[in-house]
Amino acid sequence: MQQKLLIYNTLTRSKETFKPIHEGMVGMYVCGPTVYSDVHLGNSRTFISFDLIFRYFLHLGYKVRYVRNITDAGHLEGDRDEGDDKFAKKAKLEQLEPMEIVQKYTLGFHDVMRHFNTLPPSIEPTATGHICEQIEMIKNIIEKGFAYVKNGSVYFDVEKYNKEYPYGQLTNRKLDELLEGTRELGGQDEKKGRLDFALWIVAKPETLMKWPSPWGLGFPGWHIECSAMSSKYLGETFDIHGGGMDLQATHHTNEIAQSQACNHKAPVNYWMHTNMLTVNGVRMSKSAGNGFLPGELFSGNHPLLEKGYSPMAVKFFMLQSHYRSTLDFSNEALQASEKGFAKLITSINTLEKLKPSSTSGISLNEIEKACYEAMNDDFNSPILIANLFEAASIINSANDGKTALTENDINGLKKLMNNFVFDVLGLKSENSSITTDKALNGVMEMILDIRKDIKSKKDFAASDKLRDDLSKINILIKDTKDGAIWTIQE
Ligand code: AMP
Ligand code: ZN
Repeated sequence: MQQKLLIYNTLTRSKETFKPIHEGMVGMYVCGPTVYSDVHLGNSRTFISFDLIFRYFLHLGYKVRYVRNITDAGHLEGDRDEGDDKFAKKAKLEQLEPMEIVQKYTLGFHDVMRHFNTLPPSIEPTATGHICEQIEMIKNIIEKGFAYVKNGSVYFDVEKYNKEYPYGQLTNRKLDELLEGTRELGGQDEKKGRLDFALWIVAKPETLMKWPSPWGLGFPGWHIECSAMSSKYLGETFDIHGGGMDLQATHHTNEIAQSQACNHKAPVNYWMHTNMLTVNGVRMSKSAGNGFLPGELFSGNHPLLEKGYSPMAVKFFMLQSHYRSTLDFSNEALQASEKGFAKLITSINTLEKLKPSSTSGISLNEIEKACYEAMNDDFNSPILIANLFEAASIINSANDGKTALTENDINGLKKLMNNFVFDVLGLKSENSSITTDKALNGVMEMILDIRKDIKSKKDFAASDKLRDDLSKINILIKDTKDGAIWTIQE
């Protein structure tokens, strides 16, 4: 906790020394998933990045209250408070209750997070569980004069707000510029101003998820849930608010406006935004249809994948880039990460069998210092990993008898690897296609040979049955142009 930690603050566009509001404590809120469909690898990248940040604060000895919400209501398709409710649409499609959709995809999200070995947040509040708090906050904003009621809906008055506070501060834009980029209001619009956004939306007869309010039956706008839940659990001003960069211009800008209008103070000291995971340069998103599901990645069952990759290899691939850089998905990069991760784990195992010398050929302090410096410079995980590779090279060189390590050095390296590889990066050894179990590798080789034989005799039913039977015991077979490969699904 004595360390000087620099955090890049999106609001000030600079790195600042972290000073918590309460000594030794961190309050952090991260916008969680919208659970009307599966989380894809892009969403996972954002949550893995904040898991790294959460873990590093814990490692430094801070007490952290990490709140990550679940958006389970009030999410319309457009950014302009129009279109269908995504939950209702999906519920109709799958012939389920909206809350069955919520349950299904929340469980799926937790499953993905568990595969990636992320720590659960301290609190995981849901929008539907905090309707009262949202209504109270909307009432407060109306009382303060920054919102108006129209036909059972409530809208935030952006132009009025901007007379007192800079509305576009998070993206460093003036109101005029923002207005220029927004389409004119039509005759049908209830909004007074082009940038106004809904706090509460009146229910239509067909609306499935609706609640009573002082303005009639309806449901909350998307942005108000995060303002209501973050202030409830972390206070009117808290330390860190995070999410993906795509949330900066609208969702987070509106969150600031809502909280500032209510409490007359800035809600957050450090705004942190993760950059996007892209595929061939295009942002991975549900709407672009280029979103791999983590399960597809683990099994290799996707046309863009040459093979399956284990959760830790994928996590390592993500951690090898800084959270503020874009990260482009490719099979080559994943295969390189798979090897790099295996190298790191092998070196940790090698540590167990090293024989100590009486002299030391390394400076353990320097390596440790370099690891902390990397993380203290805005959580720079790629530099941290480069330093851990240095440590792995030292271990391998000691194993080859080329570098002398004392017992103290060996114990120090064990502690260093344990702290940074397992506690901070949140990696773990795993069973996968890189299993070192020779017997299993041998048996699988035999089975794949038998299957090849069956296929060459065109008995496809038998070869498919063999594949399906193996998948029942979590061994996944994938046919590639170079032959069949197998992975163990965790
Ligand atoms: P959603 O479920 O769409 O509300 O997104 C959940 C989180 O994932 C948000 O913080 C988004 O900013 C983030 N996110 C969405 N797409 C990507 C992507 N391609 N790369 C990284 N983060 C993303
Ligand atoms: Zn949010």
